[in-house]
This record gives sequence, C-alpha cells and structure tokens, in this order.
Amino acid sequence: MASDSINLRPFSIQDTLSGEKRVVEPLVPGKISMYVCGVTVYDLTHIGHARVFVVFDVVQRHLRALGYELKYVRNHTDVDDKIIARAAEVGQDPLELSAHFIAELTKDMNALGVAPADVEPTVSTHIPQIIEMVDSLIKQGYAYESDGDVYYRVREFEDYGKLSHRKLEDMEAGRSGRVDAEDASAQRKEYLFDFALWKKAKPGETSWESPWGAGRPGWHIECSAMSTHHLGATIDIHGGGRDLVFPHHENEIAQAEACTHAEFARNWMHVGMVNVAEVDESGDAIERKMSKSLGNFWTTRDALAGFHPEGIRYFFHATHYRKPITYSMDALNDATDRVEYFYTTLERIDAALERVGASRTSAPPRAKLVEGADETLTDYQERFEAALSDDFNTPKAIAVLGEVAKIGNELTQSTKKADADRAWTLYKVAEAMQKCGAVLGILERAPGEVLREIRDLRAAALEIDVAEVDRMIQAREEARAAKDWARADALRDQLAALNVEVMDSAQGSSWRFQ
Ligand SMILES: [Zn+2]
Repeated sequence: MASDSINLRPFSIQDTLSGEKRVVEPLVPGKISMYVCGVTVYDLTHIGHARVFVVFDVVQRHLRALGYELKYVRNHTDVDDKIIARAAEVGQDPLELSAHFIAELTKDMNALGVAPADVEPTVSTHIPQIIEMVDSLIKQGYAYESDGDVYYRVREFEDYGKLSHRKLEDMEAGRSGRVDAEDASAQRKEYLFDFALWKKAKPGETSWESPWGAGRPGWHIECSAMSTHHLGATIDIHGGGRDLVFPHHENEIAQAEACTHAEFARNWMHVGMVNVAEVDESGDAIERKMSKSLGNFWTTRDALAGFHPEGIRYFFHATHYRKPITYSMDALNDATDRVEYFYTTLERIDAALERVGASRTSAPPRAKLVEGADETLTDYQERFEAALSDDFNTPKAIAVLGEVAKIGNELTQSTKKADADRAWTLYKVAEAMQKCGAVLGILERAPGEVLREIRDLRAAALEIDVAEVDRMIQAREEARAAKDWARADALRDQLAALNVEVMDSAQGSSWRFQ
C-alpha cells in the first residue's frame, strides 16, 4: 500500500483522557505523530521500562504495516535530580553518567529487538526550546519566577486534572502537612500544588544560563517542549507507563496547552505496571509491585541473562498492554516454550520445503491449500490486523499466529505422503508466520540459531555444560562408528538422564532439551 494514500485502514485506541475506545482520526490524513516518555537515565532499565518500549515498538510496527507515515519521538531524560544525586555518589559528571546509561539502555533495547524511534531527543540538547516555553508561560500569566526558580500556576489552568480525573480541592483535602514542611520549595510557591518549570542551580551543579539565572529544567517541561518542537502543538498519540498519568502527563498537558492554546495530544495510551510473583512468609503465592526497596527488582539485563529476548517479547504480548502483568519464571518459561515451538515449526517447514527443492524465498509450484488449512490461511491476515487495530490487542494477535503455526506443525509431522498441495500449504504457513512475526518483532531470524540460543540459556539455568554434552554426543557417534554398541547405549542413557534429545540428520547430529 502506498504510504501517501489517505484511505488507510482505521485503528482504535482506548484513550485515557476521554475514557473511551475511539477510532483514531489522524490530524493529517495518512500521518501519525507519536510521543512516548522514555527513561530517566541514572541506572539500567528495568523490565517495566522494557514493557513500555516493546509495547510501543509493536504500535510503531503495526502502524507502519498499515501504511501510516509515522513520526515517533521518544525522549531520554538526561537532566534530573536523581541523575545529579547518583553522579555525586559515584563522583562522575551528571551528563557523562546519563550518556553512559543511554548507551546501556540502547544496548538492552537492541537486544530486545526494539527498533529505535525516529527522534530520541535529550533534555540537555533542548534547553533553548525549554526556556522559550517557560518564558512564554510567564508572559501569559501561567507561571512565575520566585527566587531563581520558576513555578507553574496550576490554579490558572482551568482544565488541570482532566487526564488523571483529579480535582485540586480533593488533592488539598488529602494532602499531608508533614510532607509540605519537608518540601524546601514550599515557601517559594504561591500554592502547594504549583510545580517547578525551572530550578535554580545549587553551587557546583551542572546548570544553564536563563532569564531567571543559572539553573536547569524541572522534569515535566521537557516533554511538552520536545514534543511541540519535534511534532508540533498537537500530536496524535502520547504514550508512557501508567505511573506517568499523574503528575507527569497532567503537567505536560497544562504546560503545552497553556502555551500553545491547542489540544496537546488527541489520544493517550498508558501501559500497565509490572508486578512480580513471590511467595510470602506463610508460603502463599502472591503478587507484589516491583520496587527496589522490596528487593524484587528485575533489570532488563537480568531478564536477558536468563531468557531469550523473543521469549521476553512474547511474554509481554501475551497480556493486553493496559493490564498489569506479572513477571515470574514460569510465565517467562512458558513464553519461551511458545517461541521455541514456532521456530521448531519453521525449521521443520524449511526441511520439508528443501526436500521438494523449494525454500521460504523460492516458492514451490502453486497448488491447493490442504483441507482444513484453507480457511485459516485465507483470513488470518485480516484477523491478525483487526486484533492489533483494536487497541493493539496482542493476546488476540498471537492467538491467530498460534492457529497458523498449528497447521504447519501438524502437516510437518503428518505421516501422509508429501505432495504438491502440502508443500504449497507449508510455504504459505511459513509466509504467514513471518508476516505476523514481523509486526510482533519475533520469528525474524534463522530457526537453527534461535533454537540453539534458547537451548544454551536452558542449559545454563540447569547448570549443564553445553561443551560437555557436545563431547558426549561426539563420543557416542564415534562409538557407533566403531560398532561399540555398549558404549553408545551407555552414553545415550547418560544423555537421556540430562533430558537431552539427540537428532541425527544428514548434516550431523544436533540436540535439544526434551
Ligand atoms: Zn514525559
């Protein structure tokens, strides 16, 4: 489909602001502008971040597959209190520290198959745009300078609270006096819930010159300024983790809309939190919010050390993005099993196609789809696309992929004589699996490679030495060649005790866990 076509197939989003699921009407027909809040880069990313990145990676792949011309901006917060504190702890320059963690984030997201955004702006390179927005807010009466700080006057913005559905009166009623006294900036604010747009630099801190003296931006202003700068006053989709609804996104709206007098984002998408499965003191299975203080914190790198990246992606896909998800070894293992099943199916299809002189890139002669496969292979694409176009329903989409793979799996295992219809059907199954996989960011690699990676991760988890298994298999082959059946059988038994299944083929032996 041509990307300049304006009659693209529609998709819908459950919009946080209106609370309704709505068909997205692009501001400019055929084009979508999307801004997603990235990470404050003072440490390695955790799996909650990874989930947000994978979710919007599927959004980006799906919208492009539908033919939309997408401009996707995802920021890195490289100027922040947490970064300054961490840099002071380790005696490093804050911007060097954040540059280091941007590189680490990029490494982890590449490993997860997350495609880069079109623009990945940083705060430190957008200070003039931020100062310009703060200045405009002061001139329009929405902000005020106080002793080198600048604050946003929340009571001046009529719609304050419209995203998070909160009222200032309720917030006032629920406030804690003790917390207020601890807030050093409280005396400089006109009103308790006013928030900082610009913070006066403390001696020795990294700072930038501004009309209000040396300082640095508050957290929220960066996204309003960078989104407006790169995508214009109004964008089609704004996304992030659910924890950003308040105050971050609420404040982004207040800043941007007061400045530009235009609607900031037409659709808001928020990704559910990651919980961790645990066992409590009395031995009951429970789910708890992941947090550093609870010691149940998983970095993306921890997850990648134990599980295959495509297994991690599949784990995320198995739950709708808006719902919370529970991280557990069992869930990750189940997801990896599915990915292994898909790749095993593709490997068997490749072997079957090879036997008839065809491959996934060189079609066998066109024939009929075998009975029972024709319906699924005719309408899968429409159903897969419809699932993703319905608020990015990945659980439904992977179910369609599962139906297709099942046909391939059964056909490759069938004892019926291979014929032209079967070869053609297998070719179409592999094509379908690849098309779905490309949007989900899985099944894009050579099956043998991925299956070996999954096997080696399993071996590591079971503390089995892969090289030792290879040596045992080699020894078994030598014993067989020497017709030393007793030794060959003994080795086979030892391998079976490790749950190792040896597969002999014309190319030699390979193995996997049963
Ligand atoms: Zn943001």
